[in-house]
Amino acid sequence: MKHLFDAWEKIAPHLRARYVMLFLDYDGTLTPIVERPEMAKLAPDVRNILRELVRQEGIKIVVISGRSLSNLEKLVRIPGLIYVGNHGFELHGSKIHHVHPAAEKSKQLLHKIAGRLKKDYGALLGIIVENKTLTISIHYRRLDPGKVDFAKLLLFKEIGQYLSRSQVVLREGKKVWEVRPAIEWDKGKTVLWFLARVLSSAQRSVRPVYIGDDLTDEDAFRVLKRRGLGIKVTNDPNEATEAAYHLNSPAEVFEFLERLKQIKIARKYGARDKAAQSI
Ligand SMILES: [Mg+2]
Repeated sequence: MKHLFDAWEKIAPHLRARYVMLFLDYDGTLTPIVERPEMAKLAPDVRNILRELVRQEGIKIVVISGRSLSNLEKLVRIPGLIYVGNHGFELHGSKIHHVHPAAEKSKQLLHKIAGRLKKDYGALLGIIVENKTLTISIHYRRLDPGKVDFAKLLLFKEIGQYLSRSQVVLREGKKVWEVRPAIEWDKGKTVLWFLARVLSSAQRSVRPVYIGDDLTDEDAFRVLKRRGLGIKVTNDPNEATEAAYHLNSPAEVFEFLERLKQIKIARKYGARDKAAQSI
């Protein structure tokens, strides 16, 4: 995997000439990974650059996360962005609001599972069960590493029957287990859903760009392999990934946003480009 800035001369002209649909993961991409999820605050300089980018023509920004939509909106708080929560199950922008209907139906079951897990994990220090309504996150970053296997055993005890009946699925991220409704939907399918909407409203070439750091972002990198730009946030260029390029850290993501702003400020757009603004 190449470093994005080493290929900048080749990539920049495409970003300049085309309408950029920019998908940004939140944790580990816009903010560094922290011990507790509630500590992942957006730095003022990142907030400012996003505010400026949102005002430019020829770009649409989607912040996409495994967090719940309400939590994500509260953390970012920038008007004009599109917010996608729970890995794509719910989204909100100035012209769209959508909750995946099948995910909506799983709410009760997830509520029940989250309640049981909270009880099971009551005596385990350093594990947080987060009921995000449409999915559940179990954060174990602060759990004694010697207890991780036991915690996972408890998890399987609670969700085993629902896994075998294909009611829920288990996905793993960085020090987090995710219990989700068993619906064929992920960050990659969400990206395709957006592209279908944009392409039907504006018959011009859109350049999708996706930046993320985690396993759940791989679904998006996969769908963008041939039709977009996948960028993984990692300082290991040999990491196994579907992304074509990498940036070393959230600090370099910030630098990328700066570079993108320079490109978009320098260009003026026509009426057809504006049609892509319809979402
Ligand atoms: Mg992330």
